[in-house]
Amino acid sequence: MSQDGACKLNGYPSENGGAMNTRPLLNRRLDGLGTTIFAEMSALATATGAINLGQGFPDTDGPESVREAAVRALRDGRGNQYPPGPGVPELRQAIADHQHRFYGLSLDPDTEVLVTAGATEAIAATMLALLEPGDEVIAFEPFYDSYAACVAMAGAKRVPLTLRAPSFRPDLDELRSKITPRTRLLLLNTPHNPTGMVLTPDEQSTIAALAVEHDLLVATDEVYEHLVFDGAAHVPIASLPGMRERTVSISSAGKTFSFTGWKVGWTTASPELTSAVRSAKQYLTYVSSGPFQYAVAEALRLPEAYYDGLRADLQAKRDLLSEGLEEAGFGVYRPRGTYFVTTDIRPLGADDGFAFCRSLPERAGVVAIPNAVFYDHREAGAPFVRFAFCKRTDVLEEAVSRLKRLG
Ligand SMILES: *Cc1c(COP(=O)(O)O)cnc(C)c1O
Repeated sequence: MSQDGACKLNGYPSENGGAMNTRPLLNRRLDGLGTTIFAEMSALATATGAINLGQGFPDTDGPESVREAAVRALRDGRGNQYPPGPGVPELRQAIADHQHRFYGLSLDPDTEVLVTAGATEAIAATMLALLEPGDEVIAFEPFYDSYAACVAMAGAKRVPLTLRAPSFRPDLDELRSKITPRTRLLLLNTPHNPTGMVLTPDEQSTIAALAVEHDLLVATDEVYEHLVFDGAAHVPIASLPGMRERTVSISSAGKTFSFTGWKVGWTTASPELTSAVRSAKQYLTYVSSGPFQYAVAEALRLPEAYYDGLRADLQAKRDLLSEGLEEAGFGVYRPRGTYFVTTDIRPLGADDGFAFCRSLPERAGVVAIPNAVFYDHREAGAPFVRFAFCKRTDVLEEAVSRLKRLG
């Protein structure tokens, strides 16, 4: 780089009078997406010693047998060097078998399964592969924060379909009205973070019919597929008529097996879509998480009892935290899935979730996330605050007893 270039990056005046220095370093596509709220709130939790119910990660690790499988892979020298680009064959087969076991979907592990660095990379690669600048992407708002960034990095435009309290169900007439000739892709998320909404079979059918009618692609983030409560079942939209050839299904081991640090995710899709997503993915990370891929292959084969136990445990924790928050005076939207409960702070006499969350560690020793960060229309999310319940029972009990002092 020229001396001039080095000066610019360091923010010092350059010899030509510094005219170039006024250009912001972060490109305009990512404007406003500077730092995630999770970094700010987790730092606040550390600084104040507050209980962190902000970021969605479990405070206990997943099954010992799965952890041991990772150790074995490391020791046996499996995955310590670059694994194959699409993922190790054992894991791709296990993902295909999982889709068949739970959903009756038959996939070719060689052409229809792609292993990624978590669902996060799967989302990024899918957007970068399938979108052209100017394409429109319709996504439920509030949205998981990486959606906005990835759609922006692809140069596409996000079109929010706002989910409204109290049910946070999508208005499907509104969805229809938002489809234009520029619409390329529907970005779904069920079970939905942060609201805990789970699409019903009827809603999925209507969405599928719209996708077929308008020839749209669908990307569906199903990382909470095994965390659906109250006896309801997760149905992948890819299993509906006409959807298989237009859908990229995205999931991950992080939430299902309580190893969020391993970053093993995957896509399942037709050979054509898989090949497109792989083209983008290979220039992002190329490969990742070698030994963990073998461990996740074993995890996916855990018996029914594991999945049932995980769901029952999280459902009990949902109930514990939801009831505690109600007693503490919050309006509570009890989720039908995921790690999270969304609350309304207006019954507590507050209406600005940002201010509420910034003062909560001081006032009650608990960290939560303002849902407004997940909205383009921040005012629509202002009174909502999200708490994570993927924590130990004693931690949740302590958090509840602290929050009750707010009233
Ligand atoms: C946690 C989460 C992800 C990220 O999954 P990783 O496998 O950790 O990359 C993606 N989507 C949603 C909705 C999530 O909550």
